[in-house]
Amino acid sequence: MYSLVDCNSFFCSVEKVFHPGLEGKPVCVLSSNDGCIVALTPEAKACGLHRGDPIFKVEDIVKHYGVQVFSTNMQLYAAMSRRITSILRRSIHHVENYSIDESFLDLNGYEKNFDLVELMQGIKDRIKLWTDIPVSIGIAPSKTLAKMGSKFAKQYKGYKGVCMIDTEEKRRKSLGLFDLSDVWGIGRRTF
Ligand SMILES: [Mg+2]
Repeated sequence: MYSLVDCNSFFCSVEKVFHPGLEGKPVCVLSSNDGCIVALTPEAKACGLHRGDPIFKVEDIVKHYGVQVFSTNMQLYAAMSRRITSILRRSIHHVENYSIDESFLDLNGYEKNFDLVELMQGIKDRIKLWTDIPVSIGIAPSKTLAKMGSKFAKQYKGYKGVCMIDTEEKRRKSLGLFDLSDVWGIGRRTF
């Protein structure tokens, strides 16, 4: 089995660690020239903002809802990413960084000694305790399905942050629920 650990709204979550009091507030992070929104929290999405919006076009929304806007700070995000990777490596032997906020874990063999959902719940809790960054985790027989699992885990609170796709029924359900072009390894991103 593989696992994908995906940090929720990563750039915004890092800013929230260093600017307390923003929990539950709309937050967005801009591109390096302060031109467009590159990351935003669900609260900011609920205000009508989107990734890619030029900030000058949405100034009214930002003012009206008191959206907190940050310039990008890649060194800080990279440092936090390394911290999270080091927590993953303490627990799982094979860790592959896929992007600044996503890592794949190879869980083959771990099922002999661990309940995989419990194992990953523990890792999720440790990351939150040690860094204050929330993550969503998928577990599945392939990396693509693990990625889908992480999307489910983020979307549906009932999973408590960890979703395992381990039956044919769950696999079919997950394939039906997402636009496949949004999922890693499938669709437009493959060419
Ligand atoms: Mg993410």
